[in-house]
Amino acid sequence: MIAEKMKAAVLEKPYEIAVKEVTRPVPGPDEVLIRIHCIGICGSDVHYYSHGRIGRYVVEEPIILGHEAAGDVVEAGENVSSLSIGDRVAIEPGVACGKCSYCKSGRYNLCPDVEFMATPPFDGAWAEYAVVRSDFAYKLPEEMTYEEGALLEPFSVGFHAMSRGNVKAGDVLFISGLGPIGLLAVQAAQAFGVTTIYASDVVPARRQLALEMGVDQVFDPSAETIPQRIKEVVNGEGADICVETSGNRFAMGEAVHCVKRGGRVVFIGMTQEETIPVNLNHVIDSELDLFGIFRYANVYEKAIRALAGGKSKLNEVITHSFPLDRIKEALEIAEHQKDNSVKIMIYPGQTPSKMESPYSDTV
Ligand SMILES: [Zn+2]
Ligand SMILES: [Zn+2]
Repeated sequence: MIAEKMKAAVLEKPYEIAVKEVTRPVPGPDEVLIRIHCIGICGSDVHYYSHGRIGRYVVEEPIILGHEAAGDVVEAGENVSSLSIGDRVAIEPGVACGKCSYCKSGRYNLCPDVEFMATPPFDGAWAEYAVVRSDFAYKLPEEMTYEEGALLEPFSVGFHAMSRGNVKAGDVLFISGLGPIGLLAVQAAQAFGVTTIYASDVVPARRQLALEMGVDQVFDPSAETIPQRIKEVVNGEGADICVETSGNRFAMGEAVHCVKRGGRVVFIGMTQEETIPVNLNHVIDSELDLFGIFRYANVYEKAIRALAGGKSKLNEVITHSFPLDRIKEALEIAEHQKDNSVKIMIYPGQTPSKMESPYSDTV
């Protein structure tokens, strides 16, 4: 029997988070109970931790954060036939209604009734267990680790960006911002066959990591004029496509100047500000295509196939690991140590083996 109580990290209000005993969720007929093996800290979790809100989503009741998780199926509802006890799975954290026009058209990430983990009022999975509808839990192939399963969540954002931006193998790609989303977008681009990738970030360690992942050249926006640098390296023209992940207002405004005429710009990173100045005359005159990216839809299965066979390098973004009990320490690092942390992994059930940043001593 699985205990009726479990440990979970509960955020009461900004900066007040504690690991407590809470009632363990019980799976409904179409759901599975998953024992969480590991779960990442996302920028959105850090934002709820420090600000208590993101835009229109406000933490009004105590909430369990965390939505980048993988683990084992330990119980299945009576209608579940696709999964069995013991299956290793990745959790897709946004369960859509399946009935609205967005869901029916395949764009269920736009569903107004989506229940997305760790977005108020829905609990996430910084806990020993979580429940998810069985069609949102994906079996991991043997060669994929739990960590890679958890990282499928942020990876899927990059994968979705490549699909929306019609990325093709021969494209010259520029990725603005090399946080977890940007670095995983590098790998998503590689999964799409892209071989020429440029990228920028103000943090030296992140640029270094991008180079190790196969990015051709990196730029420092605090020291270089990015559109000019891109033009210099790409025949004076610019990239075919720019993927903006930083959410920095200057980078967002510059993104349309980093691509050649007829190019595409994909925006992932959201800004805190109301509006961002973008030169729309340039967009019109150069016949650019602009895309917005909100999470992802129908990506997990494809992403797993694209990464199967030992091709995944997703784990390279993990810089720190912590047991759930040390969640506050982990969040403080995520908030304040951007120069030597990228993705922090939390282990609710055990002490992780790797506790230090693999490259912090090189920073
Ligand atoms: Zn996330
Ligand atoms: Zn829907």
